[in-house]
Amino acid sequence: MIKGSTRKRTYKAIYRLLDRVSPVPFDCGTICGAACCNAAYSSDDVGIMLLPGEEKVHDRNADWLSWEALSTDEYELPGSWHGKIFFVRCKTPPHCPRHLRPIQCRSFPLLPHLDEDGTLQMIFNDYDLPYACPMIEEEIELDRT
Ligand code: SF4
Ligand code: SF4
Repeated sequence: MIKGSTRKRTYKAIYRLLDRVSPVPFDCGTICGAACCNAAYSSDDVGIMLLPGEEKVHDRNADWLSWEALSTDEYELPGSWHGKIFFVRCKTPPHCPRHLRPIQCRSFPLLPHLDEDGTLQMIFNDYDLPYACPMIEEEIELDRT
């Protein structure tokens, strides 16, 4: 766990807030067969990086996620992340307890980006992916709220 990481109750509040919004006002998994969820299961290179402390929301013994602990020293991660970070894979895609899906699942295909002023912006994922996300490929208009 990363020292000083966000508290469990803060993550629970964030999850509750994000339960009410989504990048698009429909289940985008219906237009691609839930490509990103299925890739997170079938490819060793794809999974879900939990934010520092986000693991506190989850039960490591729950049967729908597998867990891997990574050292922050071995990856290019924000400089404030020290210690262990958790990479999870979903074992039952595209089905999961929706109220528990990680933040990365809720914001994809957008990624958080801090500009030089420290302002948070959400930008389209520009990493290479082993699947085609129609929201990125077709630049589907997102819900700006
Ligand atoms: S984010 Fe993209 S790949 Fe994932 S379910 Fe939605 S449209 Fe499909
Ligand atoms: S946790 Fe849910 S939303 Fe995230 S990859 Fe698994 S099935 Fe998809």
